[in-house]
Order: sequence, then structure tokens, then C-alpha cells
Amino acid sequence: MKTSIFWLVALLVGMTSLQLKADETWVRCGSLVDVSGGQTLGAHTIVVNEGRIDEVRGGYPEAPDEVAVHDLSALVCLPGLMDMHTHLSSEFSPQAYIQRFTLNEADIALRGANFARITLEAGFTTVRDLGDSFNVSIALREAINSGQVVGPRIFTSAKSLATTGGHADPTNGWRQDLMGDPGPREGVINSAEDARQAVRQRYKDGADLIKITATGGVLSVARSGQNPQFLIEEIEEIVRIARDYEMHVAAHAHGTEGMRRAILAGVHSIEHGTYMDDEVLDLMVERGTWYVPTISAGRFVADKAEIDGYFPPIVAAKAAEIGPLIQATFGRAQAAGVRIAFGTDCGVCPHGSNAREFEYMVEAGMSPANALRSATLNSAELLGLEDELGRIQAGFIADIIAVPGDPLEDVGQLSDVRFVMRDGAVYLHHE
Ligand SMILES: [Zn+2]
Repeated sequence: MKTSIFWLVALLVGMTSLQLKADETWVRCGSLVDVSGGQTLGAHTIVVNEGRIDEVRGGYPEAPDEVAVHDLSALVCLPGLMDMHTHLSSEFSPQAYIQRFTLNEADIALRGANFARITLEAGFTTVRDLGDSFNVSIALREAINSGQVVGPRIFTSAKSLATTGGHADPTNGWRQDLMGDPGPREGVINSAEDARQAVRQRYKDGADLIKITATGGVLSVARSGQNPQFLIEEIEEIVRIARDYEMHVAAHAHGTEGMRRAILAGVHSIEHGTYMDDEVLDLMVERGTWYVPTISAGRFVADKAEIDGYFPPIVAAKAAEIGPLIQATFGRAQAAGVRIAFGTDCGVCPHGSNAREFEYMVEAGMSPANALRSATLNSAELLGLEDELGRIQAGFIADIIAVPGDPLEDVGQLSDVRFVMRDGAVYLHHE
């Protein structure tokens, strides 16, 4: 009897280990970027098991027969990139304003699925989505997590919060009888009470975080791109309620006063930050507030403002004024030691062009190593997932990409992604 139990156990153990081996994937990298140390190491083999990195071994040890091997010996491996400011459910064009009246929810959702795939194939395995319509980014996150749609890991705010006439009031510039008067459910608040309702609604809808538009913005049909648009008491209430639901608050801000109020009220990140002055820089360093620069969006709107008729006149004036300033602000912020996480605002810039941001960051004075850290270690820390994301290390989630040359020598390499693995599954591999 005892012996038969022994053999049964032995058989089960044998089956389990065979099963584990069958799930194992080995990735052989020509070289490997050590993002933390800021150096590129020689040939390595990454052992991936059930979506996690099991082991990182030097050279190319011989693989057991039953494991799948990806030969990236001609490529340079690095952790999957992370973009902390995207809008996966839309992409800006001169038609964007009229599309509010022509696209149905299903149209927006299907476009979002396409933009999500494009983003993943550009090497971005994790994103924050900072503003959608119809909760499309929540549906997208669920569809990606359940394998129905191909895309990055999403952390989303769903619909942004604004005040009446504010940057994220979806009815700005339109006839009142067509658009009505939106309230907290649609993200438009005008009191602390509204703030509570709006945050709790987003929790109920399934958002991961809260986005507010603390000042005017460029693309909304409204006069100012920088006026403060919330009372500090309103932002404090949003932050306080968001904390109850373990959500952080990201604040879009161009103007100084709105930025100051948002930081003092305790927001987690400032997005864009265009008119950040020395006082705001100091405050951000003191409070540890994250800065997500989105130079790509600034460059995009500045370029397009030069095309006659591309934007409505009220938007064109703001685009020409605000767009060109962000890169220099970023240069000052990184020199001052503000915590910087990578973000593009793609959806304003075309999806898939996210990695251009690295070139803009380096142009503005950041080292390639720090630019790469902003999109890996720092973004993971912003999300509170620094023990799981942003590194190629045993125990971490297996998000691995590969490019042809060393990105620490030329960040332009990051715009030429040849291999993408997310959660241990391969989504792109070409030579
Ligand atoms: Zn944005």
C-alpha cells in the first residue's frame, strides 16, 4: 500500500514538473540593458515561466527539449516600456470635434482596440489612460486582460473630471439644446459634494485612478489654456475621497496657479506642467509630486498650429503659445531633480509614436539612461508596482522588448521595436 502511494506521489510530482517545463519560455538576448545601473550587459538568457521571470542567466545555456526558445541573439533586450499618459480610445485629427456627433460608442471602442494593439507593438507594455469617453478604456482593459483584444496593461481614469466650462467639460463650444448640462456622472463637478459623487461613480465604473483638469487646456473649445479651474477645496475633496478607494489623482495643468493648488491638495502627478516656475518646481521636489511631461503632445500641437485651418481659431492660438514651451520646462524640471515619469499624451500625438518622447527628453538635456528609467523604474514606482514591473529580474512580470541597437547610445533605437513580450506571451517578433 505504502509503495503504491509512493509511486502515485512520484507520478504526480513528475507530471507537475513536466507541466511546468512545458510552460517555460527562454529568451536569448544578444545583450541586455541594465536600466538601474545604466549599462548594457553581454549575452543573457531570460527564463520565463507562467508570465513571470524565473531566472536571468549569463550567456546561452543549453535549453531542455520541451521549452520554447526565442532567439534574439541579434537584438538588445530591455524591460517593456511604460507610458503614464495616453488616451487609447481616441486619436486627434481636424475631424475630432465633429466626431463627437458622428461616432457611436461602438466606433470609439473598435478604434480603441486598434490603438491598443499599435501601442503594444511599439514596445509599450503598460500605460495609464488619462481620459476617455463612454468608459471605453475600462472595457478595453477588461478585453485585454481576458485575451479578447491585444494591447498593453492598462491603468485608467476613465472620463476626466472638470468644472463647468473646464478643459474636460465635454459640452464646451456646443449648442446647449444638443449637449445639455453635464454633472458629476459625466465628470463635471462644481462643489465638494459633486466631487464625492464623481469619484465614487468612477470607482463604481471600474476606474483605477482619477484624472482632473486643474487648468485650461489646448484642445478644448475654450478661451484659456492655463486658468485655474478648481477651488483648492474641490481638489482636496477629490484627493481625499480617491484615497478611500486606493486611487491616486493625476492633474492636467499648464498654468502656475492651478498647478500650485493641485500640488498643495496632494495630487500624485502633474501632467504637462507647461508654466511651472521655480516656486512650483521646489514645491514638487518637497512634496515628491511626479511630473509627467508629455513633450510629444507639445511638439505635435506646435507643429500643427502652423497649418492654416488645422485647429479651430480659438484652439490654434493656444496651441501656438503653449505647445513650444513644454520641452524647455521639462529641461528645467529634470535639472531641478523633480521625479519624472515618462508620458506622451498619445491620442494627441499619433499612437505608436510614443518612443519619440525619448528623443525629445535627451534633446532637452536628460541622459539616455535617465530617460529609460523614467519609462521603466520610475513609471513602475508611480504606479506603486516597482516590485513587479520595470525590471528584467527574477520574480518580476515578464514584460520584455528588444531593439536592434543599444538605446543607451542612441535612444532612437526605441522607435524600432522588434520583439514584444507582455506577461510572458509574445506579441511581436520580427528580424
Ligand atoms: Zn492628455
